[in-house]
Amino acid sequence: MQFQTLAEYFDRLEATSSRLELIRILSTLFHEVHSADEVEEICYLVQGRIAPFFAPIEIGMAEKTIADALSHAFAIDREEVLIEFDRLGDMGLAAQKIAKGKHKETSSVSVKEVFDILTEIANTSGNGTVEKKITLFSDLLKKLDSVSIKHVVRIPLSNLRLGIGDPTIMDALAAVKLGDKKLRSYLEGAYNRTSDLGLIARTLWEAKNPVAGVDAIEKLSVQVGKPIRSELCERLPDAKKVIEKMGEVDAQYKYDGFRVQIHKKGNDIWIFSRNLENMTHMFPELIEAAKQDIDAKSVILDGEALAYNAVSEEFLPFQETTKRRRKHNIAEVAEKLPLRAFIFDILYKDGKQLLDTPLQERQKMLKETIIKDDTLLLAENNLIDDAQKLQNMLDDAITKGLEGVVIKKMNSKYEAGARNFNWVKLKRHNAGELKDTIDCVLLGYVSGKGKRTAFGAGALLVGVYDKKEDVFVTVSKIGTGLTDEEWTSIRERSKGLERDHKPARVISLIQPSVWLEPKIVIEVLADEITRSPIHTAGAVLEENKVVESGYALRFPRLVSFRDNDKSPEDATTVKELIDMYQEQGKKS
Ligand code: ATP
Repeated sequence: MQFQTLAEYFDRLEATSSRLELIRILSTLFHEVHSADEVEEICYLVQGRIAPFFAPIEIGMAEKTIADALSHAFAIDREEVLIEFDRLGDMGLAAQKIAKGKHKETSSVSVKEVFDILTEIANTSGNGTVEKKITLFSDLLKKLDSVSIKHVVRIPLSNLRLGIGDPTIMDALAAVKLGDKKLRSYLEGAYNRTSDLGLIARTLWEAKNPVAGVDAIEKLSVQVGKPIRSELCERLPDAKKVIEKMGEVDAQYKYDGFRVQIHKKGNDIWIFSRNLENMTHMFPELIEAAKQDIDAKSVILDGEALAYNAVSEEFLPFQETTKRRRKHNIAEVAEKLPLRAFIFDILYKDGKQLLDTPLQERQKMLKETIIKDDTLLLAENNLIDDAQKLQNMLDDAITKGLEGVVIKKMNSKYEAGARNFNWVKLKRHNAGELKDTIDCVLLGYVSGKGKRTAFGAGALLVGVYDKKEDVFVTVSKIGTGLTDEEWTSIRERSKGLERDHKPARVISLIQPSVWLEPKIVIEVLADEITRSPIHTAGAVLEENKVVESGYALRFPRLVSFRDNDKSPEDATTVKELIDMYQEQGKKS
């Protein structure tokens, strides 16, 4: 396929406000793709990448170097490029404007050529790297038409603006290769195990027919180096309910740090975060421990990293631990605030996937695998079948400064990507009215009057995630209670995410002054969840009219920014919100 054809599809995807239309356009695009190599590349490009999102491959060109490349390619001043960029607020539009007229309107560069050049730029290193990257990129720009230029320029800047979620891509893959988008569920299991859409698409394209495709997809197994989607916790109100529902359980402390999935193959180590980003370089001490303290050639472990004083047995608060999520001065900070990782699961060992192995067996294997309980510490297991004992353990956890307990169903499988009653969390605040926080996604600004207008916002329109439909639905407006620093921080974080039309994956009855591409996750505490005719979370709509009310937050307030460790699809789901609403209803 020519890159120009792909770029024209990107234009159509960018312009639509409807998710169904996104699936239709993607399906037409995939119908045109005949080779497994090409579909893999296109899947990554649609995500604005040249590799799966978890691979630490960056093109490594920021706005100024892109401006240099445009200046070389079109013989204009770099300053002129930057002025245009400032005026239009988007380098893609600036580049298109500069190229228009100066350039032929058709180009014949293939998707593969563009993909290969971008990969070559990403792999360029050593002396004169910046100049080499600029030359490679400007040579590419010279060969492209202006629509292709608009999109290709956005890729290094991670700002492709297509706003397509992975489930939407899977809908289109299923429609084209399995005959119906409803068959997406066949792809989801493989996605939960490998997180790699390019690999899934390649597997489908390599199969001779839909039946062989499903078969090959089901055989796609866990791979060291590719993150597995984390198993997550459901909520129950108290210890009594837990024992009633789950019987005998394995209760573990709930460590309050950040989730780490540690992969090891020989001396190669990868560490992935809660949202499956590659964070390996941030944790030198965990890398060392994974090399030395594990009795296995290859392994995947699941755990929680936090700052812990082994002598006084003190867990440091999350605010301390979080100082380790940084890009600079890593060695120095690691020295001052060394991390431990409490390992609570093993998902793969020496060639064998363990997701279907019962929990107790996995725990046994885990104990045999961690040979030195020092930096990698084994999470304690407590087999409990009595509500009072579970309550005692929760009290003990809270006294120790921990967040609560995680209770696991005896002998359950590891269900990658699932949030169900195999794992349940009990926190200090759970008993009582609504005290668990809700992770919301910013969807827009509503302009305000007075002091706030200086920041261009009076309230934030926020939403939650509808996992089934892969859309974001509104749940609240948040205005009061935000400090000036928080407003400033929100403005900074949302730079480049402003849109003049509703993003295709947002369903809203409220029209904000400015839409935001769903990206920024904030943790919100509210007094209560209420029914609301104006919010779309959980609402039933017919032709944009509310047939059944949605759900909303009463007295919402910002607790923290979570965009470091959560992607928008990790926000609270509509299902969780409704469960929390029903739980709270029982109390009052
Ligand atoms: P979630 O990660 O479920 O979306 P969250 O970020 O609010 O939500 P919680 O639901 O409060 O986190 O807790 C789940 C998290 O607890 C896990 O993702 C994991 O990082 C952490 N955790 C700590 N200790 C354990 C444990 N022993 N077993 C499983 N998870 C644990």
